Amino acid sequence: MDDFFRARWYTLRRAGSTKPATYRCPLCGRQMPALIDHLLVFPEDDHSRRRHAHIECVRAARAAGRLPLREEVEPKPPGLLARLLRRR
Ligand SMILES: [Zn+2]
Repeated sequence: MDDFFRARWYTLRRAGSTKPATYRCPLCGRQMPALIDHLLVFPEDDHSRRRHAHIECVRAARAAGRLPLREEVEPKPPGLLARLLRRR
């Protein structure tokens, strides 16, 4: 299986460039010109493994429970105020 899918969480960033490039979406396998609005998907924020994906494919994958975001997998530790005000 594609290494891309072996990650505990993902980061997403909006993409779209004027490069005359074509990418293959890892989610549907279809090609995508770089100039359309799409998303960059980083497995565990690893930029060397980033992939370009259709926005609607990412939305569908997330609706199906795939491509969890970091904060969904690793909840942030409580902030300073929350720790100070915690009940004992
Ligand atoms: Zn796609």
